[in-house]
Amino acid sequence: MIRTSFIIWALMLVTWCAMRYPAMRRARRQKTRVDRRSTLDISLLVTCTVGLVVMPIVWRLGIFDGLADRRQGIVLVILGTLTGIAFLWLFRRSHKDLGKNWSVTLEVREGHQLVTGGVYAHVRHPMYASFLLWGITQALLIPNWIAGLAGLVAVMALYAVRQSREEAMMRDTFGAEYDAYCARTKRLLPGVF
Ligand code: SAH
Repeated sequence: MIRTSFIIWALMLVTWCAMRYPAMRRARRQKTRVDRRSTLDISLLVTCTVGLVVMPIVWRLGIFDGLADRRQGIVLVILGTLTGIAFLWLFRRSHKDLGKNWSVTLEVREGHQLVTGGVYAHVRHPMYASFLLWGITQALLIPNWIAGLAGLVAVMALYAVRQSREEAMMRDTFGAEYDAYCARTKRLLPGVF
């Protein structure tokens, strides 16, 4: 069961990389108009990579030596697979809707357009919502309290810091248009918060 669980987690990671790679390549060609990158932001991105990718691999290699392991059951594997499918779907949708306006850090591109359609018509941070789902998927599929929860903790930290800074940057750039967009949308869960 542990092996199956880890393989499902690994397949999701590979699928995510295949989805992200073309966007990374395209983004390198886009010119930046406003750059709000900070050391804190970059450090949190590194923390997310460690939490979401490195920790489960380190655990699987046996480096934890059984520390904080928990039992794994079929119900958790099924739930983890379902949240993983939801994560990949939402990630793909938000990437497609954001298109050329996407960036890995806080930036406004030349010719940047405010996206308010697709999944962005319902929430302002669907891609961060997908990362939170990734963290939940990992917690369900990796049967170790430390390696399992590391991704979710890292993503929550990134989101906590990013959310207000990103919204301030978008407000500075798009003004009343962004205010109106905020007035009709929630951040992560449609109609709730
Ligand atoms: N917070 C969004 C986007 C994450 S990518 C989400 O979770 O889906 C981060 C970049 O997306 C930011 O640097 C910003 O330039 C851009 N961005 C965020 N919201 C946007 C929107 N509604 N329209 C266009 N660009 C947006």
